[in-house]
Amino acid sequence: MSIEEIKQNVFKEIGNCKNFQELENIRVKYLGRKGKLTEILKSLKDLPIEERKKIGPKANQLKNQIQVALEEKKDFLINNPEVKPLDFTLPGKKIPQGHLHPFTLLEKQIEEIFANLGFEIVESNEIETEYYNFDALNIPADHPARDMWDTFWLKNSSAKNDSLKNQGKYLLRTHTSPVQIHYMETHQPPFRIVSPGKVYRYEAIDASHDIQFHQLECLMVDENISFTNFKFIVLSFFQQLFSKKTEVSFRPSYFPFVEPGVEIDISCPRCHQKGCSLCKNTGWLEIAGAGMVHPKVFEWVNYNPKFVKGFAFGIGLERIAMIKYNIPDIRLFNSGDLRFIKQF
Ligand SMILES: [Zn+2]
Repeated sequence: MSIEEIKQNVFKEIGNCKNFQELENIRVKYLGRKGKLTEILKSLKDLPIEERKKIGPKANQLKNQIQVALEEKKDFLINNPEVKPLDFTLPGKKIPQGHLHPFTLLEKQIEEIFANLGFEIVESNEIETEYYNFDALNIPADHPARDMWDTFWLKNSSAKNDSLKNQGKYLLRTHTSPVQIHYMETHQPPFRIVSPGKVYRYEAIDASHDIQFHQLECLMVDENISFTNFKFIVLSFFQQLFSKKTEVSFRPSYFPFVEPGVEIDISCPRCHQKGCSLCKNTGWLEIAGAGMVHPKVFEWVNYNPKFVKGFAFGIGLERIAMIKYNIPDIRLFNSGDLRFIKQF
């Protein structure tokens, strides 16, 4: 349609139009994003300069004229008693709002609980050296425990710096525990910290495993920290996160950086120990690895293990979110599927 053709039609159509909807249709037809006049204005940039000089002003002038005519017609319709006026009492259009990812919700809640228990929230690196991820956590190179963590090693990462801490290959941290070392190197006890963050494991992906997931590391160090302090913090945390009825239980376990090491189980928040599919009818869920900080770890950061004690634990945040929000598959977290997000 040429400018002339538009001119011939548009004003006739505005003249004949009987209501607001028709008027809006005319606006869209000529001035909308794909409107006939809009197309002409958009194509101007591809024309030779002489043509552009001729057509440009005409098209812009017509656009202004159409806008004025539309406004005039709108005023006319508003003031014309035969036209059904706009009903301002009709419900408006709902503007869709965004949703927080269930993970963000959970992280906020967990940080709040720990903040109320007097913990500081600290962040740390996702790329680590072998030293921080393994050696300083009492896992030397020839230690079979290294096999417990399937590691992503980084290419071309032979360290230039020849200090012990930066020697060896770089890797994507396999757990949040290196934050313990970084923090203790630069701080003196007493302190209590938590550190949430991403960790990486070279593993096959399935409904309960992903190569990237989140952990939260908790560390408390002081002169007289005992297992009782540890139990109190763990119990308070899980009772605030799930419910007052939640119970915790400790099973002996092994992690090189704690002694004694334990596995923490919580009573199943869904069935309260009656038995359900979530807890596989056992009434309990395995939830965290933990223990009293190993004296060797204190030695690496130049603390004297005779005078300081501490506890540490690491929890998988995806697992907690899956239990809390009844999410069946870990892959949903990063699926980008809005139907998933909209449920929270
Ligand atoms: Zn259960």
